[in-house]
Amino acid sequence: MDGQPARQQDTCSFDDEEPPGKPKRHPLWRKVPKKLWDDWRWQSQNAIRSVRQLRDLLPFNPDELEAIGKLEAEYKLAIPPYYFSLINVADPNDPIRLQSVTSPLEANSNFELEDPLEEDKDSPVPGITHRYPDRCLMVTTHVCTMYCRFCTRKRATMVRGGWDAISRDDERMIEYVREHPQIRDVIVSGGDPLTLPPAKLKYFLHSLRDIPHVDVIRIGTRVPTTLPQRLYDPEMLDILESTEKVWIQTHFNHPREITPEVARVCKSLLCRGMPLNNHTVLMKGVNDDLATMRKLMRALLRVKIRPYYLFHCDPVIGAGHFRTSIWKGLEIMEGLRGHLSGLAIPTYVVDAPHGGGKIPLLPNYLVSASDDCVVLRNYEGMLVRYQAEDKPTTIEETANRGVSQLIQGTKTAIVPPDSERMQRRRQYLQTKKAKAEEESASCCDAHEEPPPAKNGRRRLTPLPVVS
Ligand code: SF4
Repeated sequence: MDGQPARQQDTCSFDDEEPPGKPKRHPLWRKVPKKLWDDWRWQSQNAIRSVRQLRDLLPFNPDELEAIGKLEAEYKLAIPPYYFSLINVADPNDPIRLQSVTSPLEANSNFELEDPLEEDKDSPVPGITHRYPDRCLMVTTHVCTMYCRFCTRKRATMVRGGWDAISRDDERMIEYVREHPQIRDVIVSGGDPLTLPPAKLKYFLHSLRDIPHVDVIRIGTRVPTTLPQRLYDPEMLDILESTEKVWIQTHFNHPREITPEVARVCKSLLCRGMPLNNHTVLMKGVNDDLATMRKLMRALLRVKIRPYYLFHCDPVIGAGHFRTSIWKGLEIMEGLRGHLSGLAIPTYVVDAPHGGGKIPLLPNYLVSASDDCVVLRNYEGMLVRYQAEDKPTTIEETANRGVSQLIQGTKTAIVPPDSERMQRRRQYLQTKKAKAEEESASCCDAHEEPPPAKNGRRRLTPLPVVS
């Protein structure tokens, strides 16, 4: 040794390292060697693609089989063995199953549309949707690793085939971005762009990278969720890393989708400099309850994915049975904000009809307002007067109850009596008082005046807490 400190091991390397947790397998594939199981090609080749295969793996009654058989020609089906293994086969309402396996309910479309977001109407060239000022969406393929039953872009994924060669349409999409300097952020989507052959993916990503006004290339993908093995491939990771401007937009809808395999690929992507953001679709039976949503948001943070959007389920054909009320979304947001770390809070959005774009929805935190102040509500139900500007307040003595007292300034807050935070405060106060009494008993002559205020300013007294 020459006295130099040993070089730190490359913490980005996985090699044979397996993250904690036990990978799951359906009994059908239990004997498949690990090398094959970890091979994305094997996973794709062995994906469940027909009702005939489903019939052997899950219990269906004859009516259900007939109904989903009829739907086979309408909506594509593909479930890699990895994703299928996350299903609890004994539960017909299993949330992983609901997202991936054809349901007879897909036939009941009331007012659902093929293109609910009217993306095609905002399409200057085939494949591009240019709706917002500084960003556009680029559909690069019709292929996905799994065909989600709720997919908004079914009209694109239902196109059969997919071609490996770079087409004139592909070139036109790149030209469009190049000719529009206002575009700073390109959302590369599909289908799933990470199903593209490497050469074609590289063409899209490196062409976009080389356009100086493009700052961000966002890849919208469910590959980390449904076929993480695709991202074990160093060639794929090299293409993504060498693009430099890539942000990965993941799509996880249920905490059970966050597996050791997912943890592994998240670590690889992060180590190669790609920020990870997630969008979740709110779906009846899948994640429309607070406990599931909290678990999901926490699980995402554990693998360092930032929850970004919670989408209200779009009115797309074949997905009406997944749609919830807006109140359900607001109820969930009410139970997230303040209760979980701010990092774990997605923005709840509705994608407006007629191409109106994403509109954020929030529970109401602004309760009342006057010229002088607003009354705000926090997650605990505390109502608090908040004066935003530094101007003298005239206290009106006329109001003596409710929110009006806060507006008039006779009270500063109304706190729920059972607030945990206030109970903790009382506890701290008691402890402090007991300590002070103890100290004064041991030194009965000591009497300390509070230090004088600096700069001669009036010392601020703490806000009175009124319950
Ligand atoms: S991966 Fe995305 S594009 Fe493909 S089916 Fe699922 S939601 Fe639709």
